[in-house]
Amino acid sequence: MNISVIGAGYVGLVSAAALAGKGHDVVVIDTDEGRVRTVNGKKSPIFEDGLEEAVSDGIESNRLKATGDYDEILATDITLICVGTPSNPDGSMDLSCIVESSKSIGRVLRAKKGRHTVVVRSTVVPGTTRGVVIPALEQHSGRKAHVDFGVAMNPEFLQEGIALRCYFNPDRIVIGDEDGATGDMVQQLYEGISAPVIRTDITTAEMVKFVSNAFLATKLSFINEIGNICRRLGIDVYDVVKGVGLDYRIGRSFLRAGIGFGGSCLPKDLKGLVHSSRELGYRAQLLESVLEVNQNQVVNMLAMVCEKLVDLDGKTVCVLGLAFKPDVDDIRNAPALEAIRLLLEKGALVKAYDPLAMPNARSVLSPEVQYARTAEEAVADCDCVLVLTEWDEFRNERLYQGKVVFDGRRVMEPARARMFCDFQGISW
Ligand code: NAD
Repeated sequence: MNISVIGAGYVGLVSAAALAGKGHDVVVIDTDEGRVRTVNGKKSPIFEDGLEEAVSDGIESNRLKATGDYDEILATDITLICVGTPSNPDGSMDLSCIVESSKSIGRVLRAKKGRHTVVVRSTVVPGTTRGVVIPALEQHSGRKAHVDFGVAMNPEFLQEGIALRCYFNPDRIVIGDEDGATGDMVQQLYEGISAPVIRTDITTAEMVKFVSNAFLATKLSFINEIGNICRRLGIDVYDVVKGVGLDYRIGRSFLRAGIGFGGSCLPKDLKGLVHSSRELGYRAQLLESVLEVNQNQVVNMLAMVCEKLVDLDGKTVCVLGLAFKPDVDDIRNAPALEAIRLLLEKGALVKAYDPLAMPNARSVLSPEVQYARTAEEAVADCDCVLVLTEWDEFRNERLYQGKVVFDGRRVMEPARARMFCDFQGISW
């Protein structure tokens, strides 16, 4: 198939490189010229395991190319919209990239001969494809959706760090469409991938993605809250989870207590759902609490640090880990960002280290933050250490000998850690 992909980010570039690897001809279109140059130079603009090799293979085999030119859509059969949908300050979803890309696709479709299919892969609030994408496509193409061109919603469930693996081994494939034939075409993209396929209408497919993320976030805040209670009772929540998680109805995944969830998806999708629910006249109390519990984890840790050090003014605090999870350089909504903001507000000197995310962090954090070249350099001469991302290299006991340590990610067994450092776990 000839495929165009809009957006060369995590979702777009992973989809594009994977589809090129399966033998399709793929053009990825991005408004960021730097990203276009990087991809055409056989490199990946984001750090993702195996992606650079997949991009390089795609470019070398001429199955993949990047461009800023939307007219390239004319030579394709299907267009996947994979642009970002960040949060607005009020929690609603910023749909400006969705609107702009839909308008641009619509303008090109005006000149397109034959049928075309447009697939929304970005995470959008239920109702967006029908209420925003389709009207923009129709207005700018002068054509009618589901008659002159097909529209589908095919949410992406990848996890950063293992995104390509997720693409080829999904738990399920969800395809929402209105006419059957469009969904069949989208399903062909997954030929050779073994996973249950769930066919729905467009709005249901949008909701499946939101509910998946809302449930994962709820599990995390649930276990963090339980951890906060356990800590006060002198119980290790990780031992509790061993006993609870073996119940097949519950499971153990996403029951790792810690500093809280971040990243580009869970916080903003949950905020988007809470916001749109309010607009519909319903207050989603449980989901609001999930967000509140999550935000409080960082505040709780800072309170523990203040209690220990008495006054943070002039104290040196080492922050190990800036990325929202290990094996990625993505710092969007990472708990470390808020922790550092609060530390600086209290007059602390912050020394930070992350194996991958420091270049991204520098562009958003206060210039007062100092960066170390290694974890050893970061922990040297500090008054306390906060572990905020569970990179493997932070599991090294030698880093913490004789230090005051606050573990936000369970990088150490508490009983063992207390033998060589002044140790506190955030929820255990
Ligand atoms: P991203 O920020 O990494 O990439 C988005 C890309 O779109 C950028 O390269 C940007 O330059 C480009 N872009 C923006 N406007 C454009 C336009 N008008 N035309 C062409 N290109 C444009 O975003 P992402 O992390 O890949 O997320 C994309 C969507 O997928 C979001 O809705 C997100 O919620 C969802 N999603 C993300 C993940 C994830 O783990 N990152 C997982 C599942 C779903």
